[in-house]
Amino acid sequence: MATRGRKPTPTAIKELEGNLEEARFDNRRLKLISDSDELTGVYNRRALEETMERIPARTPLALLMLDLDFFKNYNDRFGHQAGDAALKAVAQATQKALLRDSDRIFRYGGEEFTIILAGAGQYSAMTVAQRILEEVAALDLVHPDSRTGKLTVSIGIAHRSFGEDADICEVLTHADQALYEAKTSGRNRIVLFEG
Ligand code: GH3
Ligand code: MG
Ligand code: MG
Repeated sequence: MATRGRKPTPTAIKELEGNLEEARFDNRRLKLISDSDELTGVYNRRALEETMERIPARTPLALLMLDLDFFKNYNDRFGHQAGDAALKAVAQATQKALLRDSDRIFRYGGEEFTIILAGAGQYSAMTVAQRILEEVAALDLVHPDSRTGKLTVSIGIAHRSFGEDADICEVLTHADQALYEAKTSGRNRIVLFEG
């Protein structure tokens, strides 16, 4: 180890550098753990709030709210453990549908997820949502209480254009309203908020 007043040896410097890199690695790992949802492995609500605070105002973005359809019945029929497995599978299928590094999925709570597509336009948000529906359909999870006989999801989308003065919380509220419309109009579908 280096001591006061003496020039550190190359070995001591290497050791210090090693310790620093280890500490950085530990910090990254801790951050990853504190940002992840334990069950599904996607980002958690804490990470969502941090991300929402960090996104610069007036930048374009699309925000998707996703909710599993008739999920209470799924739990009632197959049990909570099977419900947990389905929740995890849907989160991972959704993750698979995201193609850009900056696209993020967060567990909002319960069986609801938020997806933020920074810089995305309405058209690409619709394309991503469509891909999510397809990935979830490909899971082919039997759900006798659902209209299709399979586990499905509903998605509400809201969008902010470049320069638009909408707070991201407002965008989330609009996505939630679109999700509500997707639910009431039959589920297993995508609705785009058009205010
Ligand atoms: P809708 O199509 O209107 O969304 O109906 P729903 O049954 O999906 O919605 P509801 O809000 O009535 O029920 C949500 C269910 O999600 C109830 C709850 O037990 C289940 N759920 C929430 N979080 C978890 C979880 O972590 N694990 C499991 N297994 N189930 C969960
Ligand atoms: Mg819900
Ligand atoms: Mg639901």
